[in-house]
Amino acid sequence: MESHFIMRARHVRRAAPIALLASLTLISTPGVSFADPAATSQQDVNIQQTAAEQGEKSLDEQITSAEKALEIAKKQAADAKRKLDNTTAEHDKAKKATADARGKLTKARDTLGKAEVQLRQAENRVDEQSSGFSFDGVVSSLLGFLGSDVTDSMSQDVEAKRDAVEAAEKAVEKAEREETKAERAKANAEKAHEQAVAKQDEKQSELDKLNERKKAEEAEKQAAAAPAGGAAAPAPAPGVVKPAEGTFTSGYGARWGTTHYGVDIANSIGTPIYSLMSGTVISSGPASGFGLWVRVQHDNGLISVYGHINESLVTVGQRVEAGQQIATIGNRGQSTGPHLHLEIHENGVKIDPLPWLEAHGITL
Ligand SMILES: [Zn+2]
Repeated sequence: MESHFIMRARHVRRAAPIALLASLTLISTPGVSFADPAATSQQDVNIQQTAAEQGEKSLDEQITSAEKALEIAKKQAADAKRKLDNTTAEHDKAKKATADARGKLTKARDTLGKAEVQLRQAENRVDEQSSGFSFDGVVSSLLGFLGSDVTDSMSQDVEAKRDAVEAAEKAVEKAEREETKAERAKANAEKAHEQAVAKQDEKQSELDKLNERKKAEEAEKQAAAAPAGGAAAPAPAPGVVKPAEGTFTSGYGARWGTTHYGVDIANSIGTPIYSLMSGTVISSGPASGFGLWVRVQHDNGLISVYGHINESLVTVGQRVEAGQQIATIGNRGQSTGPHLHLEIHENGVKIDPLPWLEAHGITL
């Protein structure tokens, strides 16, 4: 795609500079719709990047709001726990108060029972005395009077104790009512606490999920940004360009009793030679056998060699793009006619350029 665009641009440049100028004018003129495939694809990339950035931003925003929601849920759960603790303490206190009231009631009933027994015994004694002392009516009636006085005060005491029992019974009822109320409050607090804890868990898992998603996206991004290679299959070199127009005259392999480590493309002296891919120039100048050469170290690790050149247009250390003109075809060194001798070195091995070029969409 990129190479196609470059080829096309190059063709335009060579064929009709005025047409190219006109095209550039069209591109730079605002409001003019110019269907350039490369420009359109760049626009697509821009749109995708913007969408990705927005997605990332909204995920970050989601995380921030999930963190806030979790914080609130935690606070609510803590409040609910405090309330539960308070209502539990209140309930315990109410239970103790009921037990105390019941104890007091039991005591009051005992006291009343004892007092009632004493009163009955005293009444019986008075009856016996008033009926037994028949020898002296005066003494008898005096004792009878005193006896009834004693039993009167005793029965008043019993009455007071009955009131005390009644009051104790009322106190127990009241304590029981308070206890029931406290129990209900505690049950409500328990439910509220359970719900608050469940909500906190929910918010925590929401946040965890978002964080996991972000981690996955970041890992994905890193994997995409990481250079190709390693255990993965070799990625196709981006932007591979035909190094020169011309006639394919000789392939890689045995030739004239020796090995030819490259391919030859014949054309007239001065024909442009283009860098196969982007990279850095590592040689530019005289070379034994090749007369003059240029070597480019590419970003994917390959080295391309351009031999028998007539003129180098680059210097060592210079950065070159795929399709950038780096030299012209010549007939220097051990050459039998103007041609480009192209080699491709992969990890120090001179590989057959032909299948490699074909694998990258270039036919000679
Ligand atoms: Zn050659």
